Amino acid sequence: MLRSPVITIMGHVDHGKTTLLDYLRQSRLAAREAGGITQHVGAYQVQVGDKKLTFIDTPGHAAFNKMRERGAQLTDIVVLVVAANDGVKPQTIESIRHIKNAQVPVVVAINKIDLPDVNVINVKSQLAEHDILVTDFGGDVEAVEISAKTGKNIDKLLETLVITADLLELKADPQAKLEAIILESTKDANKGPVANVIVKNGTLRLRQDIFAGEVSGRVRNIVSDQGKNLTQLLPGEPGQIVGLRDVAAVGAVVTAEKAEAEPEEVAAKEFAFDFSALEDKKKLKFILKADTQGTLEAIAQNFDEESIDLIGSGVGEVTDNDIDLAKATGAKILAFQVKVPNKVAQNAKDAQVKIKEYTIIYQLIEYIQKKMLKLIEPTIDEVVTGTAEIGQIFEMKGLRIAGVKVKTGEINKGDLLHLKRGEEIIASPVLASMMHEKQEVTKLTTKSEGGLTFRDKKLAFQVGDQLIAYTVDD
Ligand code: GDP
Repeated sequence: MLRSPVITIMGHVDHGKTTLLDYLRQSRLAAREAGGITQHVGAYQVQVGDKKLTFIDTPGHAAFNKMRERGAQLTDIVVLVVAANDGVKPQTIESIRHIKNAQVPVVVAINKIDLPDVNVINVKSQLAEHDILVTDFGGDVEAVEISAKTGKNIDKLLETLVITADLLELKADPQAKLEAIILESTKDANKGPVANVIVKNGTLRLRQDIFAGEVSGRVRNIVSDQGKNLTQLLPGEPGQIVGLRDVAAVGAVVTAEKAEAEPEEVAAKEFAFDFSALEDKKKLKFILKADTQGTLEAIAQNFDEESIDLIGSGVGEVTDNDIDLAKATGAKILAFQVKVPNKVAQNAKDAQVKIKEYTIIYQLIEYIQKKMLKLIEPTIDEVVTGTAEIGQIFEMKGLRIAGVKVKTGEINKGDLLHLKRGEEIIASPVLASMMHEKQEVTKLTTKSEGGLTFRDKKLAFQVGDQLIAYTVDD
């Protein structure tokens, strides 16, 4: 069977997470026939057409993290709430980090659009700066503009969540071994230990023997989020259970058999998450514009998905939109046999966006291949213009000065530099001053000697280190 997705709401404080959760809970109440008293069971379900969505009742990443620490990936989709009048804030960025690490699909809810003077585009480009690319920026993240206060477009948000969940094809088997996750766990004065759970797989049944980490027990009572007494919980369903002999840990997995030791698997999972997060950063980002659909495809074929993120592509001249997108994402623009209008070129310059223009296809492909190689071999596109060796170190007024002799070429004050020890590049420092025989100079030529200081005053250079000046064919 398909199970309903478990959805967590995240975002910066005051951006409207609680208001959204309240609105959803209220609308559900209004839609339901009278009777029943809602019960807080840690999560609740919202009916959308013939589908159900399960929302975790407490916003934020505290719970989310606790689950993950235990290797339990409970959340299937995150709704990232960003207030349109405030934009991306520290906790938004923090949330994005968690979303990326856990590789959970995200739907953005741009909230508070009932307020005057809100700038939705601005929010989207801020998100792009943090690698959340919404669809109208060429990405695949859905963004819905809502008001949690007035309820505007909440139906649209729910539809989007249903579609996102459909794509995930979350399957579960009610006959499978029970796997439920503890969301909250307390001790009630009358009932004893109570646990709020969501079933991920299998069926949780009344009178079943259960285990949750160190704690065991037998299910004596199940209550739904609608306050109904149930005989079972199916995959995707939240509920409150009574019957554990003690308070179980939040994030613990409830099973019908005593659990085997799991820690190793958890550690492996965490490692895999971090690793992929790291890999992500190393991708090259391009926006590709070409004269025809045919050439566009021919060029894109040469892009290795592992190392290249094609942020956007299209037929026709380079536009200001391309510049905005490139700026927001840090991408470079590749223009093949298309015009770059002067105004656009100027805007690109102002925005420090690089446009590479080509008329010969193999030159473009050569460029791409070189850039892909650079990921493996970072200095591949560098041309060395001078080398110098540090022969002495002077200390003056707390400043360390490198006494160098230029071996080949020349060193200019504005040059890009590597500090090399043996074969290893240990830093890429920036010069602060360059002296030659007590004179401030801007250049040292072959065989000349001089004294250098660096902007990084703590740079740990040693006698014998090499300075390499280079240019990059960018
Ligand atoms: P949380 O910290 O993210 O849970 O934010 P809250 O839900 O507590 O909302 C913070 C403030 O923003 C409250 O005063 C809400 O009334 C207000 N608020 C939330 N959503 C909206 C909205 O869509 N429009 C407006 N105008 N205010 C909102």
